[in-house]
Amino acid sequence: MTFQNNLEFAKQLDAQDGLHHYRNEFIFPQHEGKNVIYFTGNSLGLQPKRTQKYVNEVMNDWANMAVEGHFYAEKPWWDYHERFANPLSKIVGALPSEVTVMNTLTVNLHLMMVSFYRPTKTRYKIICEEKAFPSDQYMFQSQVHFHGYQPEDAIVEIKRRAGEHNIRLEDVLSKIEEIGDELALVLIGGVNYYTGQVFDIKTITEAGHKAGANVGWDLAHAAGNIHLELHHWNVDFACWCSYKYMNSGPGNASGCFVHEKHHNDATLPRFAGWWGHNKERRFKMEPTFDPVHGADGWQISNLPILSLAPYLASVDMFAEIGMEALITKRDKITSYLEFILNEISKEVEGSFEIITPKNPLERASQLSVFLHGEGRSLFDYLMKNGVITDWREPNVIRLAPVPLYCSYEDMYNFGQILKKGILG
Ligand SMILES: *Cc1c(COP(=O)(O)O)cnc(C)c1O
Repeated sequence: MTFQNNLEFAKQLDAQDGLHHYRNEFIFPQHEGKNVIYFTGNSLGLQPKRTQKYVNEVMNDWANMAVEGHFYAEKPWWDYHERFANPLSKIVGALPSEVTVMNTLTVNLHLMMVSFYRPTKTRYKIICEEKAFPSDQYMFQSQVHFHGYQPEDAIVEIKRRAGEHNIRLEDVLSKIEEIGDELALVLIGGVNYYTGQVFDIKTITEAGHKAGANVGWDLAHAAGNIHLELHHWNVDFACWCSYKYMNSGPGNASGCFVHEKHHNDATLPRFAGWWGHNKERRFKMEPTFDPVHGADGWQISNLPILSLAPYLASVDMFAEIGMEALITKRDKITSYLEFILNEISKEVEGSFEIITPKNPLERASQLSVFLHGEGRSLFDYLMKNGVITDWREPNVIRLAPVPLYCSYEDMYNFGQILKKGILG
């Protein structure tokens, strides 16, 4: 399709967009009486209107039933999390028994490393991507120390080549081969938070297994954003947060995937708690841990129902729409934003470049724009003019045209504001 950089064309794309009405299901911050243009759904998704209802339900059950709510609430709390198994497994391409919700993202990655990072004297190295999200870096360092190894030795980063913004698949694969027998774990972000690069999870997972390592994924920027087939791709484990593309609210609960092949492995160490215990016998308060056969067997504490309520609202919405429709719009609106940026770029030559891969298979709902010249003031200008973007040092703004609630008209209007901001 040939795009046009004008309001009428953008409105026409909105009129043809089968998901356009979902915009009305979200609450937008207001700027001068109008919805802001929201590009930070990759950082904190907007609040769905239906969320309030899910939260009120729990508040009311708590008020009316107190402790009885555990068993007699409309959605009883003791197995509230089981309502996620079906919709969430579809979002990440898993069997229902392979997904669970609990804790927060970094905590879950630590718990997964307890089970799947089992270093030995000769096989103890971890492969990750250069400039991984800081929380992941701290996690790797502390895990490696915990096992008595040195981060400089045990953590192997896959670097970008000089002058390139993204990591090449061939470099990931050759590093895995090079480390070979010393490799204990590959753990990479499925979508890089900074550049928006999407990694080939299937191929990298295969290569890691061939080297004899476990392979896990941090899907913070992938869940609810990209096509995933965690089960078929034979991923060992994966974790994600729910507050980015999944719109479940600040700091909210994480999701976790553990492949079926590990469910009955009694030799896997794990940090246990009563919520992971055999569900029929949980309240018998027995002294010996007997884990649930499934990802739920990694749960520790009884769950924060007031957090799960917004997460469930979101997961229900994703189930209603399906990832396929979202991904179709995602690719089109991201391409339209890219087109708009390229049009503006012609008028303000050399003022910025897109560092996200051009190949639609290597990107999803994000374009990262590297600003040449005075970046921070342009970012501030955008904020003052009702465009919420995200600033990353040294000079990058990240733009996430989230298909659930961003419109083509937003993309056009953004281009006009950006141009004014650059030309001054
Ligand atoms: C957002 C993000 C996190 C955040 O971790 P929390 O434990 O939820 O604070 C971690 N890793 C990646 C890659 C992220 O993008």
